[in-house]
Amino acid sequence: MVELRLFAAQALGEDQSQTDRRVRELRRYFDVAAERIDGEHRYILRGWAKHPAADGAPISLRRRAEVLAPQRCAMCGKTPLEHHVTLVVDHRIPQSWGGSNDVDNLQPLCEDCNAGKRDYFHSFEAHAEEIRKAISYDEPQRRIGALLAAFKGEWVRGDLIGIVASAKEYQEDWQRRLRDLRFFGWKIEHQNRYNEGARVRAYYRATVVTELPENIPTAIRAEEARRRRARSASTLED
Ligand SMILES: [Zn+2]
Repeated sequence: MVELRLFAAQALGEDQSQTDRRVRELRRYFDVAAERIDGEHRYILRGWAKHPAADGAPISLRRRAEVLAPQRCAMCGKTPLEHHVTLVVDHRIPQSWGGSNDVDNLQPLCEDCNAGKRDYFHSFEAHAEEIRKAISYDEPQRRIGALLAAFKGEWVRGDLIGIVASAKEYQEDWQRRLRDLRFFGWKIEHQNRYNEGARVRAYYRATVVTELPENIPTAIRAEEARRRRARSASTLED
């Protein structure tokens, strides 16, 4: 604790009293214990937080207004004016999964859609730690792969994959990232279900999972080149 206080003071130029606040922030996502060992107070990083606080940092009023400005629910399209719904600011990726207060991660939802989404996300509580871990990876393929692997061959709803795929930057075409995984030997099955309300729901599951290469984009380019060569070779034979 003495070292952290010194670091905060020297490297960040912060008052030493700020250290407690920094540790509190870390505890939203990490399990940090404070213990007295051999007469010294120490922080110990035990891993990811088991029950991250649902209430993260507050969103500023200005940002709230910016997010609500379209005055339309991002899921069902209802508006306060026509449908008399109340809009709330929703985190696309919940804060408990590491979602931020960045504008990209916020959207206006009506209260019904927000409640539905909350229930749906709550059903993943058993997998929350793996989902948080999947979201933390930089490459979309690794994020999707970690998610599918965490469900160990169970079906995963497409919209959850889309959310995890878009955790760092929006992935319009995340299905292509499934193709990338197949490049690396993954076997991913796809199923459409028609019996879950009005819309068709896509589900995916991984039946074969492989170790992903260190540098995914380079490995994909190499595989694409190899396939192009194989194709032109077979064309020549024809
Ligand atoms: Zn709605």
